[in-house]
Amino acid sequence: MTVPPTPMMAQYLRVKEAHQDCLLMYRMGDFYELFFKDAEVAASCLNIALTQRGQHGGDPIPMCGVPHHSVDQYLAKLITAGHRVALCEQTEDPAEAKKRGAKAVVNREVVRILTPGTLTEDTFLEAGRAVYLASLGQAGGQFALAWIDLSTGTFQVQNLPSPCRPSDLDAALAQLDPGEVLASDALLMDEAFSPLLLSLKSQFTPLPAARFSSKAGENRLKDLFQVSDLSLFGDLNRAEISAAGALIDYVDLTQKSAKPLIKPLQQHRPGGMLYIDAATRRNLELTKTLSGKRSGSLLASIDETLTGAGGRLLSDRLARPSAELQEIRCRQASLAYMVQVPQLMEDVRRCLKAQPDLARAVQRLSLNRGGPRDMHALAAALKSAAQIREVLKAADTRLPFEQEMQNALKDLGDFDGLGATLTAALQDEVPLQARDGGFVRPGFHPDLDTQRALRDQSRSLIAAMQSDMADQTGIASLKIKHNNVLGYFIEVTAANADKMPKDPAAGFIHRQTLASATRYTTLELSELEEKIRAAGERSLALELDVYEDLRQDILTQADALLALADALAVLDVTTGLAFLAARNNWVQPELSEDTRLRIDGGRHPVVEAALKREGGQTFIANDLNQHLDDHIWLLTGPNMAGKSTYLRQNALIIILAQMGCFVPAVSASIGLVDRLFSRVGASDDLASGRSTFMVEMVETAVILNQATARSFVILDEIGRGTATYDGLSIAWATVEYLANQIGCRALFATHYHELTALADQLPALSCHSCQVKEWEGEVVFLHQVAPGAADRSYGIHVGKLAGLPPAVVSRAEAVLHQLETDKDKTSTLSEDLPLFSIAPMPNENAGTQNPPSPVLAELDALDIDSLSPRQALEALYALKDLHQPQND
Ligand code: ATP
Repeated sequence: MTVPPTPMMAQYLRVKEAHQDCLLMYRMGDFYELFFKDAEVAASCLNIALTQRGQHGGDPIPMCGVPHHSVDQYLAKLITAGHRVALCEQTEDPAEAKKRGAKAVVNREVVRILTPGTLTEDTFLEAGRAVYLASLGQAGGQFALAWIDLSTGTFQVQNLPSPCRPSDLDAALAQLDPGEVLASDALLMDEAFSPLLLSLKSQFTPLPAARFSSKAGENRLKDLFQVSDLSLFGDLNRAEISAAGALIDYVDLTQKSAKPLIKPLQQHRPGGMLYIDAATRRNLELTKTLSGKRSGSLLASIDETLTGAGGRLLSDRLARPSAELQEIRCRQASLAYMVQVPQLMEDVRRCLKAQPDLARAVQRLSLNRGGPRDMHALAAALKSAAQIREVLKAADTRLPFEQEMQNALKDLGDFDGLGATLTAALQDEVPLQARDGGFVRPGFHPDLDTQRALRDQSRSLIAAMQSDMADQTGIASLKIKHNNVLGYFIEVTAANADKMPKDPAAGFIHRQTLASATRYTTLELSELEEKIRAAGERSLALELDVYEDLRQDILTQADALLALADALAVLDVTTGLAFLAARNNWVQPELSEDTRLRIDGGRHPVVEAALKREGGQTFIANDLNQHLDDHIWLLTGPNMAGKSTYLRQNALIIILAQMGCFVPAVSASIGLVDRLFSRVGASDDLASGRSTFMVEMVETAVILNQATARSFVILDEIGRGTATYDGLSIAWATVEYLANQIGCRALFATHYHELTALADQLPALSCHSCQVKEWEGEVVFLHQVAPGAADRSYGIHVGKLAGLPPAVVSRAEAVLHQLETDKDKTSTLSEDLPLFSIAPMPNENAGTQNPPSPVLAELDALDIDSLSPRQALEALYALKDLHQPQND
């Protein structure tokens, strides 16, 4: 016979039923307990003991638990491991439940669901990194992505290209790097999108399609912002409303009754940003290196911000460089001013050093997850903001700042009233949680001071009582102590226990005997203790009232405070970039609407910094000058000569310029780039069944399909992962396509020296090479890019430098010598291939002409009259050989 569950277990099962996809942490007294499968999963993830409690269905119930006061650290581990957690709290006082009956269960409710994209506490967050919750909306064939940083309330939306390919979504997600992505579960049925969504693993949260209804979304947004029309957020289409609405719905679902601050929805204009796809971001190591580390990335090398909010804004700007001239020029103007007035830059940065994370503190207070330390942080933030205001006021009041900065200065506002209240109210050192008390400064609240005096007076009465008792008993070591179980008690050592008066009239009541001590109380001590307890409780209640009043004061100014936080972030990024530019001699690039690209004395920001750190070689600056008549540069040169570095440095300089940043060069003039692509380095993607060569071809295909005449493309060693002739042919055709069909600016590095022959065929292409010098049998890398083609790769020399065994090096040299001699004796490699005839373009004479025959070309070139009979015979054999492959 099955035993029915206990009332408490019945309650647990009811709550769990509604939260199947979460680990349910069920509050019982001072612990959060997990049961059944949840307990097994959590115990193994948290490395804590798995125990048992009672029975269910005849089996013992697995159980584990964590103390409530340290729950955050356990939550952080569970979330990092990819779990969602529902926190179920007791929502009534156990004494109230008892009134309903001896067996009544305390009411409990899930008060919050923690997911990877909805975290707000510092324990779960990195200071300089935003965690975005993203949502993919869809309506009428259009896709849109909305995202929110719940820790600061930033809320944004953008359309995806239409028609939307999985690569477009991939690019948008790579730009955001979200902690969690919501999408309709119907998309899992879509063969094109499901692999990408599933590859997000625990960061993907499928939701029923109904949650993405644009109608419901519209109502939710109107409700949230208390508006009757959404047009004040821009011209939102149904897909954008669907994405943004589902996001807000999910925030409600996970935050339950807690109401986060959400800033007005910001719509991004399509085409407003420099498009960079996922592979290019990875290859260029913008925010992390190929091995996943921040150190060594472009972001790490340019981040001179001093605050978490500044770090997040810089990372955002790097993730979405602008494609709008006006915006870039505006940012440059502020930056240039800060560079020109270094004293101002330094003064602002000095004040920013003391700036805590204002937005996150305000958001936590709004969600009622904050504490006195958040208020303390806010007071410090307001103080440093006031100092910055003074510094800027003392500087030229006609600062030629960009609009964004002007707004920022306005938003520095005047919070002196709130700042003064917080400073007056809060102690210098405050606890994390309000419930711990002791954070209100004496003198701020008269009633509180009275209660504290009462409590402290009683404490001094206890001290007097201790000394009286010591005299009365003759036990000098008698102490009055306190612990959480007994409260106040009198303690004497075991050796002195006999000396304690036994007469009940003396008033000592025995409480506890330990091996080393005996404990007593007296009526008088109990009464005093009660007074202290009551005064303590009243003090705490008054402190909590003060806390709530301050919280309300702060929340009535929340919008202005969030605007202030944004303003400080803009100042931090601007002065940080100015500091970087001044320290490293970076210059302001000139941006234009045309397609020129001239960089004089360009340097690679990360490699240069690394060389400087190592204190050895200096970085050799190089130029790039591309324009309408010469927009594809073919770069040859030995291994290790600096080709990849050169390619990347030019791509990075464009990105920096379009972020509004100064660039590592002597001067730079850049026609706005709409899309930037790179295919560099070799990596495989075995997890999704793609070999190294396949990855290379997929990335190349994306570039050739998506680049436009305004794009910039860098291609490093296309076609290396296959047979020489296949690779060379692909590289050849790719260069032709870039030159003839797309017409973009491109840098193409290759070891196929045969490709340099293309310079004669393609007017837009010119050859350049990385220089080396041979000296006493050694090769010296000059790292200098100069016009002209290289004729050798010195690969064996590099192999020798890398430590190949001498036998392998000398054998390789012999083989190379033999191959080169044989090649010279017969025809050149390029002559073996039909390469010198430019392939007709798809739309050009398609199907009407065969490519010119190499045999005919060779025949045409023969001067028969000048040949000896023997040479004529050899020429005949050569022609026959040339013709052979087609006959086979
Ligand atoms: P490979 O063809 O073997 O891939 P590569 O020509 O692409 O080589 P890089 O990888 O760009 O060569 O550069 C090799 C090393 O040379 C870099 O790691 C860097 O230390 C150094 N280097 C590159 N460019 C410069 C430069 N302009 N100034 C100083 N050092 C440089």
